[in-house]
Amino acid sequence: MEDILRKLIDKNRNVTQEGKVATYIPGLGKIDPWDLGICVADMEGNIYKSGNYDKKFTIQSISKTISLMLALIDNGEELVFEKVGMEPTGDAFNSIIKLETIMPSRPLNPMINAGAIVISSLIKGRDEKEKFRRLLDFIRKISGNDKLNINEEIYLSEKNTGDRNRAMAYFMKDVGIIEGNIEEILDMYFKQCSIEVDCIDIAKIGLFLANRGVLPETGERVISERIARTIKTFMITCGMYNGSGEFAIKVGIPAKSGVGGGIMASIPHRMGIGTYGPSLDDKGNSIGGYKILEDLSNYLNLSIF
Ligand code: GLU
Repeated sequence: MEDILRKLIDKNRNVTQEGKVATYIPGLGKIDPWDLGICVADMEGNIYKSGNYDKKFTIQSISKTISLMLALIDNGEELVFEKVGMEPTGDAFNSIIKLETIMPSRPLNPMINAGAIVISSLIKGRDEKEKFRRLLDFIRKISGNDKLNINEEIYLSEKNTGDRNRAMAYFMKDVGIIEGNIEEILDMYFKQCSIEVDCIDIAKIGLFLANRGVLPETGERVISERIARTIKTFMITCGMYNGSGEFAIKVGIPAKSGVGGGIMASIPHRMGIGTYGPSLDDKGNSIGGYKILEDLSNYLNLSIF
């Protein structure tokens, strides 16, 4: 397997030149655009890796799947989906437009920024510190890595420049979708996006979802089968931004990408995959990660359709 992965990295390294590293969060602009790495974690406990699989990057939008798991545990499905919808948007991840044009005015799904900010506001805890602590503990648990933490520089960089997210959050407070202190909620959201991971960490989270919410190493059930299924379904319908439909046809596996360059994929009953390549296509998906997943899916026949 590692042989195949190495070949796929070599084959697709050049593709990274066709994309661009995200610069709208200034801290992200400093990353090496050539990086490309992959890790596959399978149900038998094997970990296969190649390329820059151990480079650290910020999890960004992949964290939206994790906050959603916790919000569903904390509040139940009914309440969560009263505030956030289940439909793909066809718009960019940070688009504001549908917040006002669709009635009732609520974000269309939890994978776009507006929806994810609402989800962050639903995580329980005595204060902001405890809420984030719970999220961090949760991601440490499902990745099996108790060292995970935030990248302070990227967190501050986004906090200082995240005015579009700020605008959406205040708008949603005005129309009654979000309650509470908006700056504290945004702080939680910026922090969750700044958690630093590598390909192994996200491959293991993908594997945990592939194993229907049970940690393969210990057999512990952490989330219900229903929640695991909901997350994977959102990954299929909305996980690759407004390129999710094309990805479903070309690659056919539940996946969530982030503008930090990561893609977390989960192949039910088989494996979790983490890829990293910070050079992004025009939708915000890792251009190299996308190609490797497409090749691997064709080679191993991974499409779930
Ligand atoms: N922190 C990023 C933002 O809110 C996440 C975006 C992403 O990865 O899609 O803009």
